[in-house]
Amino acid sequence: MNGSSFIKHGRDMLDYITKYLSTTEERPVYPHVKPGYLRELVPEEAPDHPDTWQSIMKDVEDQIMPGVTHWQHRRFHAYFPAGNSYPSILADMLSDAIGSVGFSWAANPAGTELEMIVVDWLAKMMKLPKHFMFSTKGSQGGGVIQGSASECTLVCLLAARDKAIKNLQVQYPDEDRAILLSKLVGYCSKQAHSSVEKAAMIGFVKLRQLQTDENYALRGSTLLEAMKNDEEKGLVPFFVAGTIGTTSVCSCDNIEELGKVCFERDVWLHCDGAYAGNSLICPEFSYLSKGFQFLDSFNFNPNKWMMVNFDCSVMWVRQKELLINAMNVDPLYLTFDKKEKSIDYRHWTIPLSRRFRSLKIWFVIRSYGVQGLQNYIRKHVQLAKMFASLISADDRFEILGQVRFGLVCFRLLGENNLSEELITRINDSRMLHLTPSRLNDKFIVRLAICHPNATEDDINYAWKTIKDTADVVLNQLNNVDEEKNAPLTQDLINKIRNFSLIARVPSLPPYANTCRYFSPSVQRRLYTRRVTIS
Ligand code: PLP
Repeated sequence: MNGSSFIKHGRDMLDYITKYLSTTEERPVYPHVKPGYLRELVPEEAPDHPDTWQSIMKDVEDQIMPGVTHWQHRRFHAYFPAGNSYPSILADMLSDAIGSVGFSWAANPAGTELEMIVVDWLAKMMKLPKHFMFSTKGSQGGGVIQGSASECTLVCLLAARDKAIKNLQVQYPDEDRAILLSKLVGYCSKQAHSSVEKAAMIGFVKLRQLQTDENYALRGSTLLEAMKNDEEKGLVPFFVAGTIGTTSVCSCDNIEELGKVCFERDVWLHCDGAYAGNSLICPEFSYLSKGFQFLDSFNFNPNKWMMVNFDCSVMWVRQKELLINAMNVDPLYLTFDKKEKSIDYRHWTIPLSRRFRSLKIWFVIRSYGVQGLQNYIRKHVQLAKMFASLISADDRFEILGQVRFGLVCFRLLGENNLSEELITRINDSRMLHLTPSRLNDKFIVRLAICHPNATEDDINYAWKTIKDTADVVLNQLNNVDEEKNAPLTQDLINKIRNFSLIARVPSLPPYANTCRYFSPSVQRRLYTRRVTIS
């Protein structure tokens, strides 16, 4: 492809993208495909000769799009939002065109410098502690853009681990590093994202996943007790990962209480604000940063809730040297002359190569302004509250957790199988896409406001879909329950068989497949008689 055909096809692509984003509703939000579907459509071998642009784009439409889950669809309410906006897409195009691999200042001076500027802008927008900003006089800290929140947690844990081992080596100079490592223990709540567990696994350290309070928040007293228990066993607490905005229910740990405990023991306190952290740009959410003065590190994902496209997770550390010490390897071929005067981001991240991600943050902030971004977040919060009020007005449902951000967690009152059936039917219908979660022993349905221009109509549509499906699920159950006292005749078994066919839960054996859709009394009767439906 040369420059002039790039312009031509580039225009076609812009048309395609714009049409795609404005007409996602014409496609099913979740694809109707099975694993391996694409292998049946795409040739076994790569083409020997060039394909035409037209044929590639035709295959995009015929082969790729049918297998896409449309995260930018108005009916997509799963997970958390995947940030998206035209300025961000355009900035990523420019980043791709520049094609720099900015691992050091010399490898792309503008890349490093713009990154340092936008992370300071963001820190100021979010009123983060001054110790995180490059621009603070005498600051030992600063920010960096990583690819994901998981990487942020991992590198912070590695930095904390390095610091803790070095401290222990002073106390036990003759002890082997592996022995010292075996003494380290980290903490998070049971609601913390699985990336914390993964970081501990990679870092080869113990992790305690602690119980939360009635608001699903980790409290200082729980942390303190766990640390004391571990200290009595000769273990050394070294790292705590708090969360603001947990994935399952968007709960917020009490960072101030955790901070006091960590400060007393010189334990590294990280806070993961992957989704909800974005809300800190709105002054009404500044209460969330209570206790942030204790943080050693913090991360949030503009690619979740700030209209910046994936991938983009921003992380700050109080003492950059601790991070750099944990990850610095310095071969000669990567050194350059102005090294002492600049930041070398390759020591802040696991990959050496780094994309020019700061461009998309810069484009987005400049295109919308802080106020535009605040309005976007506020709109999502308002819509979540609207949805919560619709749910609350229906006494068949309960809401779990507080509705503070753009996520509402709810369930049908009663056995978990009701809510399981509800979400299965909704997702199977493709009328909405929702994700489940579990809070202690309760199965819950999560509805996240995701579309960048979500409206009240979208919420009314979602509520109607959920309400109508709940009617079907509950009616079906009542019909079956009427049989509660009837003898287990062939007729009833036939009914159950039909019901189990409707239920369609392929991962379960036929018996469980059937039973989970019945009230406990019917389940007990079926179980005691060992009824199996084939
Ligand atoms: N932390 C929280 C609270 C999350 O909700 C998520 C993902 O949704 C993650 C971490 C992981 O994010 P990433 O995919 O950027 O690693």
